[in-house]
Amino acid sequence: MSTEVLRVDPHAPDPVLIERAAAVLRTGRLVAFPTETVYGLGANALDAAAVRGIFAAKGRPPSNPVIVHVHEPSQVRNVAADWPEAAAKLAAAFWPGPLTLVVPKLPTVPDEVTAGGPTVAVRCPRHPVARALIAAAGVPVAAPSANRSTELSPTLAEHVLKGLNGRIDLVLDGGPCTGGIESTVVDVTGPVARLLRPGLVTVAMLEAVVGPLAVGANPDSVARSPGLMARHYSPRTPVVLAEDADAEHRRLRDAGFRVISVGVDLFSDHRSISGDPVEYAAELYAVLHELDDGGFDRIVVALPPDAPEWAAVRDRLTRAAAPG
Ligand code: AMP
Ligand code: MG
Repeated sequence: MSTEVLRVDPHAPDPVLIERAAAVLRTGRLVAFPTETVYGLGANALDAAAVRGIFAAKGRPPSNPVIVHVHEPSQVRNVAADWPEAAAKLAAAFWPGPLTLVVPKLPTVPDEVTAGGPTVAVRCPRHPVARALIAAAGVPVAAPSANRSTELSPTLAEHVLKGLNGRIDLVLDGGPCTGGIESTVVDVTGPVARLLRPGLVTVAMLEAVVGPLAVGANPDSVARSPGLMARHYSPRTPVVLAEDADAEHRRLRDAGFRVISVGVDLFSDHRSISGDPVEYAAELYAVLHELDDGGFDRIVVALPPDAPEWAAVRDRLTRAAAPG
């Protein structure tokens, strides 16, 4: 299969190009497209065979459920069996945007989407290309990140092609994703909303709307979350997190490794990155993709502060550094 790339204006995509991509989705094939978080790999969420294609292209284990994307909040009725009050409040506050809500699913949602479970994760993205594509397709769109399983998420069309060229039909190239890390995931099936994956919508922002959250997977709950796997979002080059990146850099260099560091104010050879958590998130995967191609043996990352505004970034860094 050869993968076609169509460049689109991220703010005002050409309806003719969007319709071409929507037709690919409607015929059960795969389209990668930009969202405000990372690039997604989309398929018709109501077509089980099409969704199996996502798993085949990514090499994703079938036990990992995928997020379903809708072009406007009212469309959740096509996938959700129930819309709890917490879902309504959170959607009113943060949709369209980088927040995913886990709710009871309708029987028409295939088991492939939900890993056989009774819940479905749903999100209404803000990116104009994503919304135009989903609206034109006329179906909800299942879309995990457009990368091979466990590898780094893509924030550029080039990153998508690095992992999936020849494995998918089409990439809509809308330039860089502005958010840069995957959506916040909240399970609203229980009496208390539960954070399954931190993201750009922070705990403080969520708690301002629904009150105190529970955090982490509920062992009694059917809602599983592949984002909770220890290793995920990893470059091929081993990542080492360090409180003192300069010291770790010297130690590894003296042991004979080719080392590059990532951080804000470092003395060693490094790729600098923003000291602001939102900007850092937007840059992180592009920096890791770039350094992964740089011929290094180790990437040392200076650990950002243990503070709520850094929770999502620290989560992704911890998973990137987890042993394979
Ligand atoms: P990705 O790995 O980028 O494809 O992201 C998919 C994410 O969706 C996972 O990390 C989960 O957090 C979340 N997810 C999808 N479906 C469900 C579900 N039914 N229950 C809980 N989390 C889900
Ligand atoms: Mg992913």
